[in-house]
Amino acid sequence: MGIEAALPTDAILTTQLRRVINWARRSSIWPIPFATACCGIELMATASSRYDLARFGMERMSFSPRQADLVIVAGRIGIKMMPVLQRIYQQVAEPKWVISMGACASTGGVFDTYATVQGIDQFIPVDVYIPGCPPRPEMLLEGIMAIQRIIDQDGIPPRGPDGRRVPLGIAVQPTHQSTPQPVGVRVGL
Ligand code: SF4
Repeated sequence: MGIEAALPTDAILTTQLRRVINWARRSSIWPIPFATACCGIELMATASSRYDLARFGMERMSFSPRQADLVIVAGRIGIKMMPVLQRIYQQVAEPKWVISMGACASTGGVFDTYATVQGIDQFIPVDVYIPGCPPRPEMLLEGIMAIQRIIDQDGIPPRGPDGRRVPLGIAVQPTHQSTPQPVGVRVGL
């Protein structure tokens, strides 16, 4: 990476072990994608060359929960799918994180039906909510960086008095600027 050339060969670096662990942990988050619908396409775009998720040490998407520590739920979750998601969440290694990507995962979105889960946080702890339908890749990156900032501050997923996981509950703010509708357009006979 070039840093070796900039350092003298006999350099000594002192730091704290927890800082090294946090640095390694935040630089190698391995996501397990749980993409069920159109938000999954944006998730794929985030991993592709234009947005380049590999910059964050995250190019290794894991399809095995035991080799992952970040669950990205992208898309609507049916009530029949929820036990599968819960099982996968339980199998992910600690410390683990959850991102709810898009309106459907966070609230059910436009699918206000008995068959669609109206927010996955009713069943698993969600650390970061990303709004949008779908969110842009930049917003997913911002959500990931929010988790990295928590890890940098020595944060591991907090636990309540009963030992259960307490979610962070971070809501990413939208980054887009809505453009005004065209004016002076008339529909006439
Ligand atoms: S939030 Fe929108 S883009 Fe994402 S899964 Fe739901 S309908 Fe599709």
